[in-house]
Amino acid sequence: MFDKLALIGIGLIGSSIARAVRLKGLARTIAISTRRRETLDEARTLGLGDTYTMDPVEAVRNADLVILCIPVQSYGAVMKSIGPHLMEGAILSDVGSVKQHVAKAMAPYVPKGVYLIPGHPIAGTEHSGPAAGFPELFINRWCILTPGRDVPAEAVARLTAFWSDLGSNVEIMEPAHHDMVLAITSHIPHLVAYNIVGTVADLEQATQSEVIKFSASGFRDFTRIAASDPVMWRDVFLTNRDAVLEMLGRFLEDLSQLQRMVRVGDGEGLEELFTRTRAIRRSIITAGQETAAADFGRPHGEAATLSGPSGTAVLNGAPAPLVDVNVDVPQPVREHGGGDDA
Ligand code: NAP
Repeated sequence: MFDKLALIGIGLIGSSIARAVRLKGLARTIAISTRRRETLDEARTLGLGDTYTMDPVEAVRNADLVILCIPVQSYGAVMKSIGPHLMEGAILSDVGSVKQHVAKAMAPYVPKGVYLIPGHPIAGTEHSGPAAGFPELFINRWCILTPGRDVPAEAVARLTAFWSDLGSNVEIMEPAHHDMVLAITSHIPHLVAYNIVGTVADLEQATQSEVIKFSASGFRDFTRIAASDPVMWRDVFLTNRDAVLEMLGRFLEDLSQLQRMVRVGDGEGLEELFTRTRAIRRSIITAGQETAAADFGRPHGEAATLSGPSGTAVLNGAPAPLVDVNVDVPQPVREHGGGDDA
C-alpha cells in the first residue's frame, strides 16, 4: 500500500486508476491534479480523490507514488515543474502509450533517490475525461513496465504489485521493444482506422450518407477506433515516429500483395491469408483478451426486443449502465463498450 498517490491528469486512465485504487484500498490518500478548472471540478464532483489542485507541485509533495496520466508531449513542462519537489524514495511512473520518448522526456528532471519506472496499461476506450473511467478497466489486461537498469528490484516489485492489484498482468520490457510491438498492435490499426474514416469523410456528400446509413460492422468498428482522442493520438504518432514508419512500410508491402491477389484473381492466396488471420483472432480469444460473443455493436439478449410495426427490430437503446463490480472478479473485456487500447 502507498501512503500518498498523486495522479497528474485525471482523464479516462487517471480516473480509472483513482477508482480502482479507492476500491482496493491501495493508497491512504489520493491527490488529484489537472490542468483545467472544469476537469478538476468534475473530478471533485465524482469524488475521485481526497485532495484536488491545479498545481501539480502541491499534488506531488510527500507522495510516494506519482503517476503522470497526461498526453505524452506535455511531459516535459510538467516534469520541469514537479521534478525538484519529488520526495526521496518515491516511485515516479506514467501511463503513456509510447515509452522511448517518455523516458527521455522524464529522466532529465528525476532527482537522485526517486525511482523512474515508466508504464503503459494496454487498456482503454475511445472515450476521454474523468467521467469516462471505470475501476474494472485494467482487469485481465496487460500493463507493461519499462524501468531503467539502475532502478532497484524492490521498487519495480512494488509497482508490479500495484498493477497486479488493479487486476493487470505485468510484463517488464525494454522501451524500444515496447514501441515496436505497440506500433503494430495498436498504432498502425489506429492509423488505418483514421485513414478509412477520413477517406469516407472526403467522399461526395450523397455517398457519405449512404455509407453511414448502411454501415455494417466493418466500417462501424473503424469509426469507433477513429473516435479516439485526437490530442493523445497526435502525440503517439509524433513521438513513436520511427517504429510507426517501419511497421507502416511492412503493412504497405503486404497491402500491395493483397491488391495483386485481388487483381489477378488469386482466390487460393486470399483464402489462405484469411484462414491465417481468423486463427489469430481465435488465439486472442483463447488468451482471454477478447470474448467470442458476436459483436453487433449494440446490446445483446434481453436488451434487444422485437416491437414496432411489421416486426421491425427495435433496441431498448442506451448502453448498459456501469455496474459496480468488485475488482477481484475478472470481467470479460469490452463489457463497457470499449476495450480499445493504445
Ligand atoms: P484524457 O481522458 O483525454 O485525459 C487527459 C488528462 O491530461 C486530463 O486530465 C487533461 O487535463 C490532461 N492534459 C491534457 N493536456 C495537458 C497538458 N498539455 N498539460 C497538462 N495536462 C494535460 O486522456 P487519457 O485517455 O486518460 O490518456 C492519458 C494518457 O494515457 C496518455 O498519455 C495516453 O497515451 C495514455 N493511454 C491512453 C489510453 C486510452 O485508450 N485512452 C490507453 C493507454 C494509455 P484537463 O482536462 O484539465 O485539460
